[in-house]
Amino acid sequence: MKLFTTVFRRKRGVVLFVAAFLFPLIFVVLAGIDTFSKRQKTTRNLLESNLWFSGRTALEQLEQQFNELEKGLLNDSSFYHLYKGDRLEPIKSNPYFFLIDTTYKILYPSVAEDNDNNLLVVDQNWKSAYKESMDKAKIAELSNQTYSAAVASYQKSLTLAQTKQQEALAIEGLARSYWSVRNNAKAIEYYQLLKNKYSQTINLSGHPYGLTAPLQLHVIGKQMGKEVFGTDSLLKTYQLMLDRHWLINSSCYFFFKQEYESVLEIDNSAEVPEFEKVLKCSQFLENHVIPLVKEKEKYSELNKTVDINSAYLEAKDAQYLVSFKKLYFPELNKTCLAGIYWNLDSIKIDIIPNLLKKLEMETSLEFRLVNNKNTNLLTGEPANIPEESLKLTFNNIPFPWELVAIQPGYKKLESDAKREVIIYGLLLVIIIALMVFAVFALMREITRETNSMLLQTEFVHNVSHELKTPLSLIRLYGETLLIKEDLPEKDQKEGLQIITKESERLTHMINNILDFSKIEMGRKEFDLKPGDLKKVVQNTLDSYRYHLLKKGFKINEELESNIPQVTFDKSAVEGILINLLSNAIKFSGNTKQVAIRLKMSKVNIILEVADQGIGIPEKELKNIFDRFYRVKEKSEFEARGSGLGLTLVKHAVEAHDWRIIVKSKLEEGTAFSIFIPVNPKKEEK
Ligand code: ADP
Repeated sequence: MKLFTTVFRRKRGVVLFVAAFLFPLIFVVLAGIDTFSKRQKTTRNLLESNLWFSGRTALEQLEQQFNELEKGLLNDSSFYHLYKGDRLEPIKSNPYFFLIDTTYKILYPSVAEDNDNNLLVVDQNWKSAYKESMDKAKIAELSNQTYSAAVASYQKSLTLAQTKQQEALAIEGLARSYWSVRNNAKAIEYYQLLKNKYSQTINLSGHPYGLTAPLQLHVIGKQMGKEVFGTDSLLKTYQLMLDRHWLINSSCYFFFKQEYESVLEIDNSAEVPEFEKVLKCSQFLENHVIPLVKEKEKYSELNKTVDINSAYLEAKDAQYLVSFKKLYFPELNKTCLAGIYWNLDSIKIDIIPNLLKKLEMETSLEFRLVNNKNTNLLTGEPANIPEESLKLTFNNIPFPWELVAIQPGYKKLESDAKREVIIYGLLLVIIIALMVFAVFALMREITRETNSMLLQTEFVHNVSHELKTPLSLIRLYGETLLIKEDLPEKDQKEGLQIITKESERLTHMINNILDFSKIEMGRKEFDLKPGDLKKVVQNTLDSYRYHLLKKGFKINEELESNIPQVTFDKSAVEGILINLLSNAIKFSGNTKQVAIRLKMSKVNIILEVADQGIGIPEKELKNIFDRFYRVKEKSEFEARGSGLGLTLVKHAVEAHDWRIIVKSKLEEGTAFSIFIPVNPKKEEK
């Protein structure tokens, strides 16, 4: 009962101990997870407000930076420079610059207007003398085909001419007339003159001589089979026309383009010619920008205090941003509209990404430019806007887009959260596993100790019984011998024999206990000496023989004679033999047979004690050498003992560096074999 409570108290202690650790630990971990989620919430709030503030500031910054860029482009001097009529300068694509005067006339980029005025205007201020002479020359040349008269009249006209155009027209007449009479040299001379001196002067069809004369020179040269104005020179003139060397209208441009291309036998070049770019630009201005400006003026939206006006413009082919301002031109003494318009595609590809990159670095936010269909404008793919983001509309620039500010911190926060939960979870699992392991280990230890305690208690019980039996026999026979003096001699002898035998048994038992306690205290010593093992075995058997025979045992004794000398402790070997023999006696049923063998193998001497007794269950074989251990299931067979015999045998065997093995079969018998190496280290397996 006491034992039970001790064990129970110990096990309960373990449970309490574990609980005392485990519960606070689980509590700490759970509290950790809880604080962690709270902390996460706070961080989230912080990030949210940061997103709100930084996002807005970023948008303002972006708008400001763009406005500055716009302002830089729209600076006064660049427009003065443009106006100064450097109309030969190729037009800059994106942004396109423009200048419109108060009458909505496009000053830059300039293309001659498509009207017939040129044809009429030239005639108006002609002096009658020049006109008369020119008319006369034309009649002589074209109607009468009297070329010498025509030449004379054209020469006269030339002296009467007052403008450059009048001079050029007379020279053209001269050149034409000379060519008609095949005076090629003169014709060439006059066409050269037209080309060189009157390049920008236009004829009555509005065609500049710089374009007509080269064509004529080329044809004359071809007729003569001479290089007068070769293909290369003509190609150069053609290129000059494409590059807007002449301020001509579109019909003139396309006319000459076709002429030159057919003479030169070339196709349209892949690149859009400068002239056509400008043409397109001025058409765009006419069709879109001017109406827009007009509209704004109508609603007096052109606020004088605002420096630059911007408007979003959607044309057929693309979207544009138009920015302009009023600018006073001293030369003209009037205010014009100076502006730029640019394709929004180019803003979003060339300008915005750089600005956003800068902002991303400054704010540590992520930005995406999206349209109303939530398409990422820079990649053209769906923008994939996360929940925690801020959509911002442009306030100061009429961009048809929105800016999405994303807080990348959220992503990190989430991954951190996941990681921490995993770590905490793992920690918890590890702690619980360790605790469970500790409980098992402790329980096992306690069970072992309990078993050992139970064995010890059993041992004390058994030993006291074992001691009591011979003691009471000794006492009984001693008293009988004392009291009954007239006892026959035979009975007296038997009494004394019993007293001797029982005291031997007592001695054996006490020796075992003493040996065991010596071993336990580490004081057992063996006196190893070389000796004749066979002799010791023989003597021990002889002293035990009487005992065996008395018990009715048949002894099978096989001691080989060629046993060599080995080193051993004599009393230990005696102890081993007596323990094994007494077990054979104790655990034999009706078949009382015991065999003692001492034989040689190749390298070992084998000492064997075998019986034909009750045998040992196989699962118990590994335990029988443990201290106090006794096989439980012996069915009806009950033999007393201390559970120390085999422990001492094993200890003695191992102290000699020998080996003991046991073979047993239930109901058939048990055999213990001790292997004693003759030459240590070369032991037979
Ligand atoms: P005990 O004092 O009980 O004999 P031992 O240590 O000598 O203690 O033996 C341990 C147990 O091994 C015995 O209780 C018995 O069950 C078993 N045993 C030992 N020798 C034999 C044997 N020759 N035959 C059957 N069982 C044996």
